Amino acid sequence: MKLDRGMTRREMLKGALLAIPGFMALLAAGKNAVAAEAKGAKAKGAEKKSAGSDMVSENDPTAKALKYVADSSRTAKGRPAKMSVDGDKQMCSNCQFYTKEDDNKGKCLMITSGKVSSKGWCASWTKKA
Ligand code: SF4
Repeated sequence: MKLDRGMTRREMLKGALLAIPGFMALLAAGKNAVAAEAKGAKAKGAEKKSAGSDMVSENDPTAKALKYVADSSRTAKGRPAKMSVDGDKQMCSNCQFYTKEDDNKGKCLMITSGKVSSKGWCASWTKKA
């Protein structure tokens, strides 16, 4: 059977079958490009976040292991006294490992991936000498 433009059905099917791998390759390339773009956007977002704040994240592995919280009052309820300091009075600003940088934050010898909040707390809290 001849079609309008002088192509047989067989030739048309053959052409269509030959085009499938090319179409699939284009589809895969498109998917990869979209995935790469999404990955790039995510990385940029993460950079912005870390560039915007020098404070340690509570999700930092060391912070998590030490149960660090940026606001000590969040976990103060039921916290036992340590070295004669009531649980709710323990915070980074009166911890041995804290070096004040300003009224809100400072460096910690235990968690070094960023600054800790002066009102923070972690399980390594030790009374300042
Ligand atoms: S060790 Fe001290 S300064 Fe460091 S996070 Fe824990 S309580 Fe805060």
